[in-house]
Amino acid sequence: MASVTISGLSKSYTGDGAAALSTLDLVIGDNQFVTLLGPSGCGKTTTLRLIAGYMNPDTGTIAVDGRVVSSKEHVVPPESRGMGMVFQNYAVWPHKTVVETVVFGLKVRKTPAARAREQVAHALGLVNLSGLENRLPGELSGGQQQRVALARSLVVEPDILLLDEPLSNLDAKLRDRMRTELKQLQRRTGITFIYVTHDQSEALALSDQIAVMNGGKLQQYGPPAEIYARPANRMVADFMGHINFLPGRITSAANGRCQVMLLDRLPLEAELPAGLATGDAVDVAVRPENVILSREGAATSGLLGQVSERTFLGNLIEYDVTLQAGPSLRVQTHPGSSFAAGESVVVSFEPTAISVFAAGTTEKIEG
Ligand code: ATP
Repeated sequence: MASVTISGLSKSYTGDGAAALSTLDLVIGDNQFVTLLGPSGCGKTTTLRLIAGYMNPDTGTIAVDGRVVSSKEHVVPPESRGMGMVFQNYAVWPHKTVVETVVFGLKVRKTPAARAREQVAHALGLVNLSGLENRLPGELSGGQQQRVALARSLVVEPDILLLDEPLSNLDAKLRDRMRTELKQLQRRTGITFIYVTHDQSEALALSDQIAVMNGGKLQQYGPPAEIYARPANRMVADFMGHINFLPGRITSAANGRCQVMLLDRLPLEAELPAGLATGDAVDVAVRPENVILSREGAATSGLLGQVSERTFLGNLIEYDVTLQAGPSLRVQTHPGSSFAAGESVVVSFEPTAISVFAAGTTEKIEG
């Protein structure tokens, strides 16, 4: 349908130098589901509004299929960009029926009535609203209202759909269902979806690519599995769910790999972060599900610790383990595991699931 190329895009609202968005470079492929993810105030909505054409960038360009639609000097207006937009608050008109709401964009475009009827029926079918054509918003659930808003955007057959936290007003169960529906909708229509959320699980579940942002800057851009398992920096590691940080030191480095001595007692191997060398202090990051607990005597190497808390969560068990060497860490295991609070354990790590960062790096989550 359409690709979007963002180059060196910046925007400041205040003129005091505080940038809401700083030199963003991003290529959004045709037919992709791409999510802009980050904490409140990181610049997601600013990026989406720039893509939609609601304002001029201070620097940089946005091109759709190679054609520049936004620059400092010139912005193609929103209605001429082949884009639809869906907002958090649905914004459906209270006095218009489903059909009247959905047909609106076609009336503006003066689409002949028979063709408009076909397109409305098709759009309503896409979002599973067939049969509810004559209902008013007051006669629809929150999820159905959000689907009306989706149909209103889809009916004009956009190449690109921009969605700004469209599920955040729905209750948890409905959100889950709409998530699946959105993903299916994107696959069925082939429309390029650009989606904004601060919810990392939503981003992981929906996206082909995630752009993690913080403080107006892009932190990492990649597929969900890579963002989760190979965070580019501490901020990304921290933002994508719980992660343990333990101190260590690089003892040798070669060919992009390094040996790290964790807590002065456990050697580990990991990818060598750019700019670090032998002797540097590091923080080793490992997610709770990648920590392995064993009984003393059963493990050949590891750190000694004691279970300080055991929490049964249905599909998994979460342990807080205090290491003999000092720090504590969170561990998640299969619900069949049976360590008791107070029990001594040996802690080791999935060897491929360790990330290493310069100690005390300061990419904090801003918001
Ligand atoms: P949220 O998840 O809370 O919507 P966001 O990531 O979408 O946040 P933006 O709305 O893009 O963030 O805001 C980025 C920065 O720009 C923030 O510091 C915000 O305060 C500022 N900002 C946004 N809109 C304006 C405005 N109209 N005038 C001045 N500052 C603004």
